[in-house]
Amino acid sequence: MLIRRYLLTALAALLLAAPAHAQERLPVVASFSILGDFVKNVGGDRVAVESLVGPNGNAHVYAPSPNDAKKAADAKLVFVNGLGFEGWLERLVKASGTKAPVVVATQGIKPLERASEHGHDHNHGRADPHAWQSVANAKVYVANIRDALIAADPADKEVYTANAAAYLAKLDALEREVREVIAKIPADRRRVITSHNAFGYFQDAYGVNFTAPQGVSTEAEASAKDVAAIISQIKKQKFPAVFLENVTDPRQMQQIAQETGAKVGGMLYSDALTESKGEAPTYIDLIRHNLRQLASALMS
Ligand SMILES: [Zn+2]
Repeated sequence: MLIRRYLLTALAALLLAAPAHAQERLPVVASFSILGDFVKNVGGDRVAVESLVGPNGNAHVYAPSPNDAKKAADAKLVFVNGLGFEGWLERLVKASGTKAPVVVATQGIKPLERASEHGHDHNHGRADPHAWQSVANAKVYVANIRDALIAADPADKEVYTANAAAYLAKLDALEREVREVIAKIPADRRRVITSHNAFGYFQDAYGVNFTAPQGVSTEAEASAKDVAAIISQIKKQKFPAVFLENVTDPRQMQQIAQETGAKVGGMLYSDALTESKGEAPTYIDLIRHNLRQLASALMS
């Protein structure tokens, strides 16, 4: 009897000690998996994140489902990349009737303007949306996410601040690692071909040159002329390697490799994470994986 009363008291104490909001995670939506990972790192156990475009998905050409509209309707915040990345999002937000503020995670990042490399310029004047490919920019995303979560849920301000600080320290270490590894690659071999122009910010930040038959979006297919231009460029400049991407069809790059004799250096993760058992289930894994692929293809 005594033991039972003791147990009940202990249980009551436990229930009282648990913070009132422990069970109510703030429901939020992120437009794509990489952004979802940033939000998870800052939100921790206070936030339930749904990423609309999932692992290996292509956010440039996504078609939202009715389930996505429901997720947006239930969300307290909608995180987006912006810079023209999610052309489908505005319609989804409107159709869902969500009252959630839309948080543009690239706010404050100076966008790169990327013209097409091959003259006819279907992307002229377009901002390059792939800002996350520079780790310094990822830190801006994290700061914006932290501030938006604090504004939406001020009671958990300390948690968000501490989570963001811990993650930002990891990103600092990651950026040092990127610079150290790239520095070991001979400067004249820091040249790569990929499917679409997703690595402009990586190029600007870390000095590896990327060329692609497709522009900063995958909405328009690369034309035969674009592919021919890349092939003659590879033959002239002897690119050490061409790379596949997880969000684009590999056949075109395989064809380019075949016609030029360039080796396929492996897979780069550009616009999406992999499934949890894959090679890049988090942003930090993604950057590390790409770095290893580049180093092993360009140093040998
Ligand atoms: Zn892209």
